[in-house]
Amino acid sequence: MGIHVGVLAVQGDFEKHIKAVRKCQPKAQITEVRTPEQMDGLTHLIIPGGESTTVGLLLERYGLGEAIQNAAKAGLPIWGTCMGMIMMASSVAGRDQYSLNLLDITVERNAFGAQVHSFEEEMQITGLHEPLMAVFIRAPIVTEVGEEVEVLATINDKVVAVRQGNRLGTSFHPELTDDTRLHEWFLSWS
Ligand code: GLN
Repeated sequence: MGIHVGVLAVQGDFEKHIKAVRKCQPKAQITEVRTPEQMDGLTHLIIPGGESTTVGLLLERYGLGEAIQNAAKAGLPIWGTCMGMIMMASSVAGRDQYSLNLLDITVERNAFGAQVHSFEEEMQITGLHEPLMAVFIRAPIVTEVGEEVEVLATINDKVVAVRQGNRLGTSFHPELTDDTRLHEWFLSWS
């Protein structure tokens, strides 16, 4: 069976993820996910960067959040980048916002400070052999991790990539570079 990648497309930079998936898996079927029905038959789901407050409201309102949670329970590999990781976190420091509760972590939003809207940094990440150029845009960091969570990458001791079983969370935006190794790695999960 071929792979069928869903990219959550209610808001945010989903198009760049679609391009990255096409580049590394030209034969993959790709669905822009906006309704619960569009979760059917997916082999992977990517939740892109964007604005977590807005996306949380939309996920809750249209039952899409519940569909994602059910698919996750059934073992679907899910990867959240930046806002996507915020949505997957079980809690957001200092805020009471909608959560998919798929990663046992606490995140802090916009954690690199108001002045530091974006930056790039070369970084080692477990799962890839060579370092990766990571692009951070008003990025969150992970401030607490549960027992089942593996830390994959840190920057100045701040956790910026985690894995819990079939679920991956990254603070940065791999879809904004030409390097598709992280997409390839995630799409190899089943
Ligand atoms: N700062 C955004 C939020 O907290 C996330 C930014 C991003 O996804 N690039 O929702």
